This record gives sequence, structure tokens and C-alpha cells, in this order.
Amino acid sequence: MGFKRSQVLNAATVLALMTVSGGGASAQSSTQDWHAFGRDVLKQLVEINSVHANGSTGATLAIAERLTAAGFSREDFQLLSPPGHPTKGDIVVRLKGTGKLRPMLYIGHLDVVEAEKADWTYDPFKLIEKDGWLYGRGTIDMKGQDSSTLTALIRLKKEGYVPDRDIIVAFTADEEAGGEQSGVDWLAKNHRDLIDAEFVINPDSGDAASKNGRKLYLGIQTSEKEYMTFGLEASDKGGHSSEPTPANPIYHVASGLDRLSKYQFPLHLTDTSRAYFAQRAKLETGQVRADMLSVAGSSPDPAAVARLSAVVETNVMLRSTCVATEFQGGRSESALPEKAAAVIQCRIIPGESQASVEQAITDTVADPAVKLTVIYPPDISPESAIDPRIFGEVQELGKEMWPGVIVVPEMSPGASDSAFTRAVGLPSYGVDGTFQDLDDNRAHGRDERVGIEAFNQELDFSYRLMKDLSRIP
Ligand SMILES: [Zn+2]
Repeated sequence: MGFKRSQVLNAATVLALMTVSGGGASAQSSTQDWHAFGRDVLKQLVEINSVHANGSTGATLAIAERLTAAGFSREDFQLLSPPGHPTKGDIVVRLKGTGKLRPMLYIGHLDVVEAEKADWTYDPFKLIEKDGWLYGRGTIDMKGQDSSTLTALIRLKKEGYVPDRDIIVAFTADEEAGGEQSGVDWLAKNHRDLIDAEFVINPDSGDAASKNGRKLYLGIQTSEKEYMTFGLEASDKGGHSSEPTPANPIYHVASGLDRLSKYQFPLHLTDTSRAYFAQRAKLETGQVRADMLSVAGSSPDPAAVARLSAVVETNVMLRSTCVATEFQGGRSESALPEKAAAVIQCRIIPGESQASVEQAITDTVADPAVKLTVIYPPDISPESAIDPRIFGEVQELGKEMWPGVIVVPEMSPGASDSAFTRAVGLPSYGVDGTFQDLDDNRAHGRDERVGIEAFNQELDFSYRLMKDLSRIP
């Protein structure tokens, strides 16, 4: 992962670069100008309220106007929406390259979660500057990153830059609404030609973590756990509560849940989670560090696994999990229940099958009176291989911009739109340069905000990374 960027530049690329920069420094805008431009895009996007009920089409139209003003032709971008959902707009733009390399794709969702004015200190749908922060819904998830991606693309266009690979950017609908009209899912299934790429960058699932003002690591997401949901049910003929029987469905389901609560899925490490622990160990000391290094090695010490399993944050990296999230049973105080049902929500390490999870639940519940049903089958999304080009570029950039910051591969316990691109075979990487304090994550919360300096650095990082990746063979 440690190769130098200069090694991947061939002579032709270097010449092309010299030609561009030789085009006259006066024609080039300053970094400050692009910070102002990025801020203006962010203000515009935050002030277009794109919660689920409103949709994202308004934001796509604003982006289309920006692209046109920057010199993109009408053929360079497409405005689309799934049939019957005109407010769930997506926009896909392409900065044409020489065709020497296969295209790359950036994705960014335009929708935001709800925000009640009454809960916030400021109006959530106005970009408010205060004490070094920019407040507004979406500033960190992910209109800030959308703004930096769009700014980078427009900046490259304005420079007359011709990449070796097409740079495709898709700004899309409905990531937050459980992927209901997910633009990424819809495009992947219906307009593959528009977004087909060698790899995908999704700033939404990347991570730039700091703590108490110290920048720690850049997390590159290569995988996420697969979401699947099961039901457990038992039924009986019921009767009067004065004459209890052992067939009581509440007892059957509850006993099964009790056994499930003590079940632990086996240790399942992947390339990503091993590399994650090897890197994360650098930020730890003492026993935790030793345990992480053990787990990253070829034969993890069971005692180390047990200690890391006792901590929620590391346990979810070590194995699949299933947890009871809902329970229903009975309908009258004085009647024996006729039915009891529970919902079991699972987050599965990529590579495990639905059948093996079902088997584990059935064996653990170990009661033929309790029936297993499938409520939500998994969206299969395989782990993307740790690509040394992408990891190398992020590491080099990180080293220059934030000395001391390490790069950590990540498997998210939750889901993002990358599940849909991975599902159709596009290796996908979460990369974000917006540093946030681990203890102050306001995504989806009240008074969501981004630091002005963090946002400006993200603007620089996105531009440089996009340019670098667009010419790396
Ligand atoms: Zn998001």
C-alpha cells in the first residue's frame, strides 16, 4: 500500500499535466476561490429540503444548472427518475477521459433524514455559520461530501483536464429511506451502461476520525454486513387462563429467544477485518493492542478473541450477529395466547449464506414448535478486495495533508448504497476526508454540523483524490 504516486504516472500523463498547468496560472482559480465555490454549493443543497417526502429532484436540477454553467453539455449528463416516482430524481454526469483506462464512478445520495425546526438551535434547512462551524441538515451526511465531489468535478472541467478514465458522478435519491427508491439500486439494475465502472467511490461510507482534536485515521470501507431479518412464531388453540398448558406459544418463543440471547456466531475474519485490526492496533496500547494484533494474525488467541468480543464495537467486527427487536403475543389478560411472534434482525459477515444463518437460529432455538420465517432476505454484497491503488493514493494524500494519520480498511456493521454497487459486481470503496470527532457524530441528529476547516480540507482532498484516481492504471 505504500507506493508513491509518482511511480504510477507515466510519461504521457506527466506531459499532459504540464500542458494543462502550462496553460497559464492566471486562468487557474485559487484554492480559496474553490473553497468559496464549494461553500456556495453546500448552502444551495442544504437549503433545498430533500427529506423523503420532498424527494431529490429539486437538488438534481440545481446540480444540472451548475454543470451547464461549468461547460458540461446536455449530452454529458442525464436526469432520470424511476417510473411513477418523478420526485425521486437522480443525475448522472460524465467527464470524458481519453478512454485509456476504464471509468470510475462516484456516488452520493441527495436525500436527508427529517429535521424538526423546534428541536434545532437554528433552522435545519438554512446553512448557518457559527464559531467555525457550518450548521444544517446534511452538512455531514452527506451534502457536504456531495458538494465537495461536485466542486472537484467542476474544477477539473474548468481546468480543461482530460482524465485517463471517464469520471462518472451519480447523485441519487432515497438512501436514507431504507433504500426505498434508492437511485443507486435502480440505476445499477436499469441503467448499468450509465454507471458501469472499474471501481466505485462512495464518500458516504468513508470515515475520517478524530478524537479530542487529534486526527486519527481515514477509514476506507470495503464491505458491509448484510442485512437480513427473520421471524420466530409459535401458535396454539388458546383457552382460559385458569387452565394453563405447556403449549403456551409465549413460553415457546420466549424460551427460544433466551437460548438465542446466549448464542454467539463463530469467529469470522475477512481480509478487511484482519487488516482493520492490524491498523487499529497502532492507535491502541497495552492489552487491547496485543489482542488486536493477535486477532490480525494467522492463529488468534481465543482469550484475545473473548476480550474483544466483550466490547460491542469490536465484537461486531469479529462475527455475524442476530438480535431480537420485536415481540408480540397474546391478546387478552385472561386468555391463553394463541400466537406469539418475535422479529430477529441479523447483520451477517459477507460470505455467509442465508441458509447457514437459518440453520444456526433453528439449532439454537431447538424447538420444533417454533417456526422460522424469512421477513427480509439479504441483499448479497460481497467484500471488495483491498485495492492497493486506492489505498495507496489515500495513504499518500493523507500523509501529505494530515501527517500521522493512518489508513484503516473497514467493514461497516450498517448498510450504505455501496451494497447495491457491490451486488452488481462493482468493487466499491467508502472514502471521506471530512474529519469528525468520534464522540460528536451528529449525522441524523440535531444541530448537524461540519467544521469549516474540515469542510475546506475535504474540498481539497476530494479534488486531489479524484484527479489522482482518474489517471492511476
Ligand atoms: Zn448518508
